Amino acid sequence: MKHDGRFGEFGGFYVPEVLIPALEEMEEAFYKYYQDEKFVSELDNLYKNYAGRPTPLFYAERFSRLVGFKVYIKREDLLHGGAHKVNNCLGQGLLAKFMGKTKLIAETGAGQHGLATAMIGALFGMETKIFMGVTDVERQSVNVHKMKLCGAEVVPVADGTGTLKDAINEALRYWTSNVEDTFYLFGTACGPHPYPTIVRHFQSPIGIEARAQCLEQIGALPDVITACVGGGSNAIGLFSAFLDDEDVEIIGVEPAGRGIATGKHAAPLVAGKVGVLHGTKMYLMQDEDGQILETESISAGLDYPGVGPEHCLLKDSGRVRYVGVEDEAVLYVFNVFAKCEGILPALESSHALAYVLAQKGKLPADTVVVINLSGRGDKDVGIVERSENAAAKSSL
Ligand SMILES: *Cc1c(COP(=O)(O)O)cnc(C)c1O
Repeated sequence: MKHDGRFGEFGGFYVPEVLIPALEEMEEAFYKYYQDEKFVSELDNLYKNYAGRPTPLFYAERFSRLVGFKVYIKREDLLHGGAHKVNNCLGQGLLAKFMGKTKLIAETGAGQHGLATAMIGALFGMETKIFMGVTDVERQSVNVHKMKLCGAEVVPVADGTGTLKDAINEALRYWTSNVEDTFYLFGTACGPHPYPTIVRHFQSPIGIEARAQCLEQIGALPDVITACVGGGSNAIGLFSAFLDDEDVEIIGVEPAGRGIATGKHAAPLVAGKVGVLHGTKMYLMQDEDGQILETESISAGLDYPGVGPEHCLLKDSGRVRYVGVEDEAVLYVFNVFAKCEGILPALESSHALAYVLAQKGKLPADTVVVINLSGRGDKDVGIVERSENAAAKSSL
């Protein structure tokens, strides 16, 4: 069914005039192909044989014993590339191919989406440019190198603070003068219409699979489902299959960084105000004058001042509850979960784990909670180690 790009008062497309035809062309192509037999069978094949879908739903027994109720983990960390991002990149990449586009561009902050796009650019033999702030290029040199290995060009962006926000602005600017042959592969369920809708669709296997796996493995729907929320793509991918299941409680977890009260966080649903950025109306981290605030989070993948418009509506309607979890609790659960289950969770995903750990002893023993493990934590081992060293030093 066609969507008008509005989620209540949120969403829309606030973009320069020149981009409107490109977004309309993309919207038209999406509705033409997303249920097309050839498109669906190619995408299913790639999900299965390239990315590794379906991902397992794993009963985390020792972690469950620790918290006092039943915790199941949706293993998106096992996908190719180590996170859910490949789902969206395969979907949009294939759409680009069906549209006859020959070039891909994308923005990246920490490099995770840039790398996933570079992988898919190589897979489809498309010329790929990744826009990345200069600060991030410096901080994430390993991912820059991996992108180059996959044949992508990394374009450093020196504007502003040289981070994700500036990379998106530059990618949009570049796209305005190259819309003919170039597809902008956007990284999350945010940005102008139709991105929030198409990204949700390409991430929806997470929830569709998890729901079926619950029925098959547990014989019932879960009581609670939860996921971390950056731009909101892994969360909406899980949540969308459960929105009509009124008895399933849904919790989105935002990065509260060093604490909401300190202002050093990236939790627009918990503490933001409605505004417009990067083509969409959403809850946004901004000051009284509408200036975008600097955000902060231990997990680079959640460090974004805005959030997908559908999440904004789900907050206002009360269907989903959004909470914030601070860095300290995230680091703590990273260690706890690794020791319980032998799985290193991404710091992003650890936000959802930390929320669940905080419910320890508060829920009946037969409660079933499903957590989306959006990615693996190998990339975060250095950060965890440095924080531990810093903590040890400060306590001397
Ligand atoms: C990028 C990333 C996120 C955040 O993005 P969403 O669009 O909010 O899902 C979460 N987890 C991991 C592992 C990521 O790489």
